[in-house]
Amino acid sequence: MKQLFITLSLAALLASCHSNSTEQENKAANSAANQATEPFEHVAEQFADLRVLRYQVKDFDALDLKTKTLLYYLYEAALCGRDINYDQNYKYNLAVRKTLEALLSTKSHDNESEEFKQLETYAKRVWFSNGIHHHYNNDKFVPECSKEFFIHALSHVDEKYLPLQNGQNKAAFVSFIADVIFNPEIAPKKVSLDSKKDLILSSAVNFYEGVNQAEASAFYSAQVDSTSDEQPMYGLNSKLVKENGKLVEKVYKVGGMYSWAIEKMVFWLEKAIEVSENEQQKKALQALVTYYKTGQLKDFDTYNIAWVNDTASVVDVVNGFIEVYQDPLGKKGSFESVVSIKDFEASKRIAKIGAKAQWFEDQSPIMAEHKKKKVTGISAKVINAVVESGDAAPSTPIGINLPNNEWIREKHGSKSVNLGNIVEAYEQAAGGSVVDEFYYNEEIKKRVKEYAPLADKLHTDMHEVIGHASGKIDTLVGQPHETLKNYASALEEGRADLVALYYLMDPKLVELGVMPSLDYGKAAYDEYITKGLIVQLSRIKLGNSLEEAHMRNRQMIANWAYEKGKAKKVIEKKQENGKTYFVVNDYEALRTLFGDLLRETQRIKSQGDYKAGKALIEGYGVKIDPVLHKEVLARYEKLNIAPYAGFIQPKLVPVMVDGKITDVKIEYPKDFKAQMLEYGKNYALLPSYN
Ligand code: ZN
Repeated sequence: MKQLFITLSLAALLASCHSNSTEQENKAANSAANQATEPFEHVAEQFADLRVLRYQVKDFDALDLKTKTLLYYLYEAALCGRDINYDQNYKYNLAVRKTLEALLSTKSHDNESEEFKQLETYAKRVWFSNGIHHHYNNDKFVPECSKEFFIHALSHVDEKYLPLQNGQNKAAFVSFIADVIFNPEIAPKKVSLDSKKDLILSSAVNFYEGVNQAEASAFYSAQVDSTSDEQPMYGLNSKLVKENGKLVEKVYKVGGMYSWAIEKMVFWLEKAIEVSENEQQKKALQALVTYYKTGQLKDFDTYNIAWVNDTASVVDVVNGFIEVYQDPLGKKGSFESVVSIKDFEASKRIAKIGAKAQWFEDQSPIMAEHKKKKVTGISAKVINAVVESGDAAPSTPIGINLPNNEWIREKHGSKSVNLGNIVEAYEQAAGGSVVDEFYYNEEIKKRVKEYAPLADKLHTDMHEVIGHASGKIDTLVGQPHETLKNYASALEEGRADLVALYYLMDPKLVELGVMPSLDYGKAAYDEYITKGLIVQLSRIKLGNSLEEAHMRNRQMIANWAYEKGKAKKVIEKKQENGKTYFVVNDYEALRTLFGDLLRETQRIKSQGDYKAGKALIEGYGVKIDPVLHKEVLARYEKLNIAPYAGFIQPKLVPVMVDGKITDVKIEYPKDFKAQMLEYGKNYALLPSYN
C-alpha cells in the first residue's frame, strides 16, 4: 500500500527509444576498469512492452569493509527470497520458470529460429513479472510462438532438468506445462478487482486454496480483537487453505511454508547481525530473525517498531512479506527485499520537508478532527539501492513508506525513503518525445521539461513523507483494508498524492528552500493532469478498464478535478488536428479543488465510508472513454517506447582470503537474461510445487 512507482512518473514516460537488442555477453565489459573509462549505459534492452535499465551505486568502493560486508550479507538474504514471490504470484510459476530456464540452457538446432527467439522473449517477460502474469496489468500473457513449437522444443530437453511432479512422466508433464502456459482459460488474471466476481476465485495468486472470498473474509474478521488497538495485520504471512473442511493457515516460517528459502535467509541475516552498525540495527535484525523462526505476527510488529527506530544507520534493509497489492483482499504480504545505503546529500532536501511535518498537518485542508495533533516519528531520507528482489524487482518502487500497520504508524511513526539512484537512472534513460506529443503548447512543454524532474522528486517526497503519514482514523473505525476493502489501496494512494499536489503550489516549499519557484508546482500540475487523463491510457489494452490502484487513483483525481472545474474551465479539453489535450488554465483554482478532494478522501478513510469511496473510484477512476483511448494508443505507438521499465541488479562479489572477506566488489552486469539464468541457478531454493 505504501509504494510509489515511477512507472508513471515523467522520467519513465519521457523515455526515448533505445532499442538495444544486441545482447552483449562480453564479460570484460563488466570489469571495473571499463566502468571507469566508459560512460555508464542506463538502458540495456527493450522487448514486448518492457525496458530493462541499469543503476549504479554511488561511491560503493569508498565504503569501509564492515559496511560492505553487511551489505553483502543482506544482499544474499534478499536474493534467497526470490523464489517465494514467484510461488506467491501463481502456484505454477516456479515450474514454468524452471522449464523455460531448462529450455534456454539446452543447445539444439532450433536455437536460431524465429520461434525460439519468441520463446526467449516470453521467458524474459516471465522473469520481468516474476511469473506468467503481467506485473502491472495482471493479465496472463502467452508466448508468440506456437504451442506446437514449444512442445517440440521441449523434446530436446533432458527430463532430468524439468520440474516433473511426483510420479509424472515427461509426456504428461509437457502436456500439463504447455496448458498452463498457452491455455487462456487457465489462470487468466493474477489479481482480480472486479467487484462483481468472487475476488479470490477469479484471482490466480497463490494465497488461498479451496477457499472463497466470503469464507476468507469471515475467517479474518473473526480474528480481530476489538479490545486491543494494537492489532497485527492478520493473514499477512500465510496461505489460507481448507483441510478436512476446516480453514487452516500455512504460515511462512522456518519449519513452515517456504522453509527452505527462509532458513537460508535467516542464515545470512544472522551473519549480518554480527557486523551490524549499531545496537538499534542489531535489535531490528534480531527481531526479524525471531519473526522468521516463529511466524508470529506479534513478532513482526516488534520487528517493525525496532526497524522504525533505527534511523541512524547508513545501511538499511526492507526484508519480509510487505506489500499487500497482490492479494485481492489486501491481507497477504508479497515477499520483497530492498537493500540500501543512505545518500547524505539528497537526504538534506527530504529532511527539510520532514522537519515541517506538523506545519503541513496543521495547514492541511482536511477536517480538524482528522488531523494528527502530533505527527510522530516521520523520518525521511534518500537512499541508493544496492539490490532489490522479490516483489520489488525487476520492476521497482521509487519511494517506500513503511511499516504498513496503522497502529505502529500512529504510535511509533514510519520511515520514508526515496530511491535516489533508481530515480536518477530513469532520468538518465529519458528523452523528451512523450512531452512533445502529449502536452499542448511550447510554453507548457518547456516548463515540464525544465521543471518536472525536480517537481517529481518533490512529489515523491511529499507523497511519502507527508502524505501517507498525515491524518488519523476515527476511534472505533477499523483499518482501511477492513472498511474500504478493495478500494483501500487506490484511495490511500490518492490521498497521499493529493497531499503532495496541494502543497506543490504552496510558497512554503519555496520558503523552505527545496523548490526555487512555483513554476515547479505548475509543471507538476501540468504533468499530473496530462498523465492521469491521457498518457497512462497508453498502458491499457483497448476495451479494458483501469484496475491497478495507482492508475485508478491518478485518473480519479485528474478526472474529478476536470469535472468539478468544468464550469469555470479550470482544466480545458482541447482538440486540434485530431489530438486531444487537457490544459490547466487556472493553477490556483486547481489547487483549491485538490484541497477539496483531499478533505473528502481523508474523511472517507477516517470514517471508513465505503460507499463514498467506491463512488469516487468507480465514478472517476475506472472507466475509459473508448474514443480517447484509441487515439492515445495510436499516438503513443508512434513513439516506439516500451511503457514499463525494470532493472538489472548490481552484483556483489566478496573477495575471500583464508575464508575471510577482505573486500566486496560491485559489478554492473549488462545482460538481463544472463542475470536471470544466474539467479535461477544460484537461488532456486524452493521446490517447484509448494
Ligand atoms: Zn503511496
